[in-house]
Amino acid sequence: MIYRSTRSPIQASDPEAVLSGIAPDGGLFLPKEMVFPAFSAEETVKKDFLGIAEDILHTLFDSFTREEIADLVRASYEGKFSAPDFTPTVPVGDKYVLELFYGPTCAFKDVALSVLPHLMVKSREKCGVTDEIVILTATSGDTGKAALCGFRDVAGTRILVFYPHGGVSAVQRAQMVTQPGENTFVAAIEGNFDDAQTGVKNIFARFAAENTLSGKGARLSSANSINIGRLAPQIVYYFKAYGDLLREGRLSFGDKVDFVVPTGNFGNILAGYFAKKMGLPVGKLVCASNANNVLTDFIRTGTYDKRRPFYQTESPSMDILVSSNLERLLFLLSDGDDAAMAGWMKSLSEDGVYTVPAALLEKLQEDFAAYCCDDAKAGEVLGRIYRETGYLADPHTAVALGGAEEYFRDRMEDRPLVVLSTASPFKFSGPVMKAIGLDFEGNEFDRIRRLSEVSGLAVPPSLAELESLPERHKDVIGRDRMGDFVLSHLR
Ligand SMILES: *Cc1c(COP(=O)(O)O)cnc(C)c1O
Repeated sequence: MIYRSTRSPIQASDPEAVLSGIAPDGGLFLPKEMVFPAFSAEETVKKDFLGIAEDILHTLFDSFTREEIADLVRASYEGKFSAPDFTPTVPVGDKYVLELFYGPTCAFKDVALSVLPHLMVKSREKCGVTDEIVILTATSGDTGKAALCGFRDVAGTRILVFYPHGGVSAVQRAQMVTQPGENTFVAAIEGNFDDAQTGVKNIFARFAAENTLSGKGARLSSANSINIGRLAPQIVYYFKAYGDLLREGRLSFGDKVDFVVPTGNFGNILAGYFAKKMGLPVGKLVCASNANNVLTDFIRTGTYDKRRPFYQTESPSMDILVSSNLERLLFLLSDGDDAAMAGWMKSLSEDGVYTVPAALLEKLQEDFAAYCCDDAKAGEVLGRIYRETGYLADPHTAVALGGAEEYFRDRMEDRPLVVLSTASPFKFSGPVMKAIGLDFEGNEFDRIRRLSEVSGLAVPPSLAELESLPERHKDVIGRDRMGDFVLSHLR
């Protein structure tokens, strides 16, 4: 499949797009034509999770044979998720919740980061590249661990993760410093997340300018959600959820389903839009934000304005003011107007704001609705749903459940509604305990055990074992030492 950039007519093959991540002009890769004649949504929804994954990845990455994709899907998922059907759909009150947190790190990023390493290695082969792929990741907590698990012992890759010293939770730290694998390296940075992020960006720039890696058999890459190889696997669970409702007789193929998505960088919800473009009968895609509600305002008014306070909330993985993947949606809605796209992105970086034309906004609102829910409201919803139905949500999912309640009141048509659940409640036990009215003194691990006793839910095995695993990655380094850390850990 031919991919193209959102900012100019630059093209790439599917393995090239995966290998490079971002386009050379700073844009994001999208299929050149969003039409998939060989793909049948009606046939694909009947399959199980792995079967759906095969169909979708083979459609979007057709430089690979069906067999190559089948092998890759098995290597990515088998034995890695604690739910037999990977992403189950469960009824909660008058809605459904699509649970995406049964992977190794208990958050939805596992679904895509399980696939990306294998896709990168295969893409490397297809492109005739022999260098080892060295993944650099700065993390505020969740992405780093999911990337470490995904790349662990994948031949031809190596991963280095930097996190802010003292800036992540006890569980998040334990998840990273105990990470097994011959090709995994982790360091704490004396600084905050922005310092870690800036440090990584500087390494990319400096190593490129100074040709640092030439002759060293290594090339740098990143695992963040602008890579098309991370977006594609997320399309799978929209089909899986639709198939679940079909099998339970809740609908017939063709009936529309609404999805509510707790949103940060706009990757997860954009995958839902891709599912719709590929023929899944999706009704509205409802974007749920926390107090950082820049997307709510944008979807309602057409003006994207990042000049606003940044809030640290209890749903930290959604604390974001510039949602990278929105660029892909705007490109598609403007019928591929790359000049307009480049202009909006320029005003965003120079002035912090841009406004899209009224016609584009109208199209956007046909497919999307938007709601926001601050910590107080999300906590109220989390506590009430737990009392009324026994269902325990995490704070990110609670933002979406709050959005779903408002959408229920506003919407015109009555149809099944699926709320995407992006993390296990045990991963964010502090705000969850507060929301259900439990006071507790003690460390984070004691709290997790207490939450398990009270809720009757088992602690996810990967969190339960953390306390007893040996710490392997104890480096704490200055910000100016990050480049040396990378160089000293090459092959
Ligand atoms: C990353 C993340 C999100 C936001 O997803 P996007 O694809 O960035 O919109 C929501 N919830 C959790 C738990 C996450 O880790």
